[in-house]
Amino acid sequence: MSYLRVRVRTALSKSGLPDLDYSLNPYIGCLHGCVYCYARSYTYAKEVAENWGRIVYVKENLLEVLEEETKKRRPGVVGVSTVTDPYQPIEAVERLTRRSIEMLLRRSFRVSIQTKSPLVLRDVDILSDHRKMVDVGFTIITMDPGQAAVLEPRAPPPKERAGALIKIASEGVRTWLFYGPVIPGINDSVESLADILEEVGGSVDLVLIDKLRVTREVEKSMRTVMEDFNSVLALLNQQEWWSRVRRELLNLCEKMGVRCFPSLAEPTEQRFKSLADFGARPPT
Ligand code: SF4
Repeated sequence: MSYLRVRVRTALSKSGLPDLDYSLNPYIGCLHGCVYCYARSYTYAKEVAENWGRIVYVKENLLEVLEEETKKRRPGVVGVSTVTDPYQPIEAVERLTRRSIEMLLRRSFRVSIQTKSPLVLRDVDILSDHRKMVDVGFTIITMDPGQAAVLEPRAPPPKERAGALIKIASEGVRTWLFYGPVIPGINDSVESLADILEEVGGSVDLVLIDKLRVTREVEKSMRTVMEDFNSVLALLNQQEWWSRVRRELLNLCEKMGVRCFPSLAEPTEQRFKSLADFGARPPT
């Protein structure tokens, strides 16, 4: 594992996601090293992309740049992060994510965090002081620690993420669950999502589901842990598979009284309305 310091010219990027105005990624690369991660396919730093999960760049001048940008840009919703996890292990020392969030909130930007790390609990003081301006999403795709260890080798165990979600919700901060990727034969059963929803109880305000996206790099890394990845590909290519799984998962959420929506790639009017209620800025 190695960290390298880099300097950047911009901090906020215009977000391509419908619910966000900007994205902020304090780090490039992600040590969690999930085998299904497609961020590696969109990372411009070749060294990081080719050594995904082993090298992380730290944006050493991020705060100076962000300071200038937040003076000039119109406040909006900032996704922290959208490409990698903002709570990399080194964040415990660097505090780039923490200080960025503080700065954004001070300048009236809303912050939407997505992570797999309980390190976010360190920042619960800021989050609870600004509960109307923040939401925190945790990605959990299985409660099975063995399965998680294979698919997300260096990410904190699902139980710890669920515990962090519950703690943050208990502080009155809105929380959501990202159930993605859904992988055929791995976590595409109703029981798999039910296990997670039972674990987090009534703490989760919203669930987003997404299916596996296969890039060349994802296929290569998935094949290192799955002998029969061809069967996964075959199911992914069947529209009926996703229609059925999506329907079953949405039905489960309805039964359990949790708002649940399909992936970012499948926006629906209903989802936007719900996200607007949730606090995110609806698309204009
Ligand atoms: S935590 Fe997210 S960004 Fe990091 S490797 Fe896993 S999927 Fe990729």
